[in-house]
Amino acid sequence: MTSSSATTHLPDALGQPARDFLSSSHGLLIGGEARAAADHREFESLDPATGRVIARVPHASSEDVDAAVAAARTAFAEGSPWRSMSPLDRGRRIAALAELLDSHAQELAEIESLDNGKPVKFARHVDLAGAVAHLHYFAGWPTKIEGHTIPVAAANMHCYTRKEPIGVCAQIIPWNFPLLMAVWKVAPALAAGATIVLKPAEQTPMSALRLGQLALEAGIPEGVLNVLTGDGETGAALVEHPDVDKISFTGSTAVGREIGAKAGRALKRVTLELGGKSPNIILPDADIKRAVQGSFTGIYFNSGQSCNAASRLFVHKDQYDEVVGALAEQARATIPGPGLDPQTFVGPLISAEQHERVRGYIDAGRAEAELVAGGSSDLGKGGYFTEPTLFATTDDDAKIVREEIFGPVLVAQSYDSVEEVAQRANAGAYGLAAGVWTRDVSNAHRLAALLRAGSVYINTWSASDPAAPFGGVKASGVGREHGHDGLDAYLETKTVWTAL
Ligand code: ADP
Ligand code: MG
Repeated sequence: MTSSSATTHLPDALGQPARDFLSSSHGLLIGGEARAAADHREFESLDPATGRVIARVPHASSEDVDAAVAAARTAFAEGSPWRSMSPLDRGRRIAALAELLDSHAQELAEIESLDNGKPVKFARHVDLAGAVAHLHYFAGWPTKIEGHTIPVAAANMHCYTRKEPIGVCAQIIPWNFPLLMAVWKVAPALAAGATIVLKPAEQTPMSALRLGQLALEAGIPEGVLNVLTGDGETGAALVEHPDVDKISFTGSTAVGREIGAKAGRALKRVTLELGGKSPNIILPDADIKRAVQGSFTGIYFNSGQSCNAASRLFVHKDQYDEVVGALAEQARATIPGPGLDPQTFVGPLISAEQHERVRGYIDAGRAEAELVAGGSSDLGKGGYFTEPTLFATTDDDAKIVREEIFGPVLVAQSYDSVEEVAQRANAGAYGLAAGVWTRDVSNAHRLAALLRAGSVYINTWSASDPAAPFGGVKASGVGREHGHDGLDAYLETKTVWTAL
């Protein structure tokens, strides 16, 4: 591997541990060893606040995919250290990984903030805290994976089920919550006793490489967690590899459809967590102050780059002006800044490409809706900054109403009745999340049942817990992560019949 620190730029605000890691040489993690890509290709990871290079990492080719899948297969073989480890020990090592993430939380938060652009305080208190909690939750599962005894009708027959790990898992991760999304996939797979080839997004490869190192330090055997840095080509090679048993993907609906089709043809197991355009409904009796605050955070947190962002706002016509006015005022007062600045609430977008995409949506919005606040994506400070932006429209067919923007852009609309708003909220292609702000218990739960979404938030947005299932319906995906459902996604059921 070539050392590249001479041509990378690390800001002064970075602490020593993060600096040491980022300026070290980076390898693919295959079978417990760090190595260069077979063809020695590399790519650069950038700081979205400046566009400057922070590190160079290997670009895994299909040859590296073969090697990583082979390592994962060897680690999964009967009699391997991982397969012969007791469930108690497996849980202990997952807990050890949780502890290591916790003791390296500031370092990891800074790596994440610099690589992704997100505010370091959120990286620390949302991404890292969530990752640690997730690993601790799943550390408790290995000792509780139980089959059933089945009361079959046949006489003199003993029938029971075993829950077995699914095998070699390809896990493909997006760039919006790089470490957290990786842990959402790694933790249940480890708990189930499966093995993993993890591919972080090409925009944010750094924290997954550090996670791989810490997993080895936690006593997770070599080859159980392999990490391949690379792009969509690397991901496609992984998806198509015949020795992969299960694919978990979080990312765009377009790529998810492609992966789902390939997995279907090969009859591989698949979990897909895809896009969203989540309706957020403020009912007339809501606590308006609280609803405005929650709606603001619901869209602008993480610069709107969340699959479950509250990107489509419905306000009753009687409160519409008040709510839109309050949101606009707050949006105008929120100045985007670099993630490593402790004052920052809205960081840059992830990349030049995403910056351009979002600008395209804002231009479309100017033509088809009323721009109420923000709209500028040229803040004169370099980097991929875009202002928190608010549009208002009555047109349900507008592009900015229908499509996922994945940026700090909110579209507000007014409505008349609960039935009308439920119907309009359900009309879109997606079904990841929906929200309701109300003091009326009946309306809250009536809407919770009516809304076609994987999660419904009442008087909150984006509540999350490792024990609470998360995932989408319609174009938002297939399957659930977190909790019992999330564990089941990495287990196969075997039924054993014995004639007595
Ligand atoms: P975005 O468009 O927001 O970058 P993507 O869905 O393209 O989201 O990317 C999410 C993840 O999927 C990344 O890790 C990316 O490298 C990977 N990826 C992109 N294209 C493919 C593909 N055709 N097959 C498998 N993985 C892919
Ligand atoms: Mg980056």
